[in-house]
Amino acid sequence: MSATETATRPRGRQFFANPGPTNIPDSVLRAVAHPTVDFQDAAFMEVYEACFAGLKRVLKTRQHLFMYTGSGHAAWEASLVNLFSPGDALLIPETGHFSVSWANMARDLGLEVREVGADWRQGLDMAALRAALAADKDRAIKAVCAVHNETSTGMALPLAEVRAALDATGHPALLLADTISSLGSIDFRMDDWGVDAAVGGSQKGLMLPTGMSFTGVSEKAMAAHADARLPKHYFNWTGMLARKQRSFIGTVPTGLFFGLRESLRLIEEEGLEQVFARHARLGEAVRRCVRHWSGNSGPQLFCTNPGRFSDSVTAVLMPEGFDCEAVRSTALNRFNVSLGAGLNKLAGRVFRIGHLGDLNEPMVLGTLAAVEMSLKLNGVPHAPGGVDAAMAFLAEGTTA
Ligand code: PLP
Repeated sequence: MSATETATRPRGRQFFANPGPTNIPDSVLRAVAHPTVDFQDAAFMEVYEACFAGLKRVLKTRQHLFMYTGSGHAAWEASLVNLFSPGDALLIPETGHFSVSWANMARDLGLEVREVGADWRQGLDMAALRAALAADKDRAIKAVCAVHNETSTGMALPLAEVRAALDATGHPALLLADTISSLGSIDFRMDDWGVDAAVGGSQKGLMLPTGMSFTGVSEKAMAAHADARLPKHYFNWTGMLARKQRSFIGTVPTGLFFGLRESLRLIEEEGLEQVFARHARLGEAVRRCVRHWSGNSGPQLFCTNPGRFSDSVTAVLMPEGFDCEAVRSTALNRFNVSLGAGLNKLAGRVFRIGHLGDLNEPMVLGTLAAVEMSLKLNGVPHAPGGVDAAMAFLAEGTTA
């Protein structure tokens, strides 16, 4: 169905269950709609500074922060061009579509990529990472680039263990972390975990429109930046530091800052730890539901490593011979529920239920109910009653 045909969709608010972009709270939408202001104004600078400080609290860093107008890809690129020189080697665990895409970007920029292979359903074997680092006797590897939450597979990577692998092998490489689908949903601690560059975007846990991204940067990374020779201009951190707004070589996206101030307010009002707990609860409810569906040879959790389940997205693997696009299409066109598609080699085989951002129990249950009905309407085998399993779990851990 084309965008112009959306008027034929059922009435009522769309349940947006993509793993990013995500639902935008009404108060954030209103804040983004702030009339234009001069981004040099002292009044706006206050908003800008408050956002900088708040974002650092969410990243759990006291170090540097640079922001960009552009989606997560912009922050990926900024992290690479600011830290490396042509031919530098990076070690990138291959955990799913997004790690592959970051690796491809690095190659296009003239960097050497050494991948550590991993089973996309099981995740990275830390012993393999340690072995790759230990084998790098001449310390050619300049950085490990790790995707904290693989949005394509629904699997989280324990960054503290990646840090431990670097420490155990005494390897001096920088640690770059993609927090695009984890920040503001899953615990992330830039300074405690010794992350040197933390890449994030506006449109997921921060509950904002797409269009702004950022990198938290450590002192160690700033030292590496001083020697980095890849060409850069718009993303150049040195250039940014020379400006009053320590980012944005061009016009500052003021509307997004008004929105960010509001989304940070919402996050801090709820409490960051409570935000993580809510995501963990809702994520577990979705997994209980999918596990139930997997009876009768139904769809199953793509991630087979329970220690690594993502609390922000669940990838659901269709039974052999059934196309997930039919299910996604019914969910969208019959029930107005938008699900994520399978990416890369998972296209057609996996659909994704996003459960991050501005979300509560009824929204998750409504989404799951629409998926269960879509499975039934498309003749996909499954054990009915997955939504009941989710409800039972959600009711268990709560009070009236
Ligand atoms: N990294 C991860 C983990 C993502 O989920 C995404 C997008 O979904 C990206 C990178 C790319 O970000 P963007 O689409 O904002 O450019």
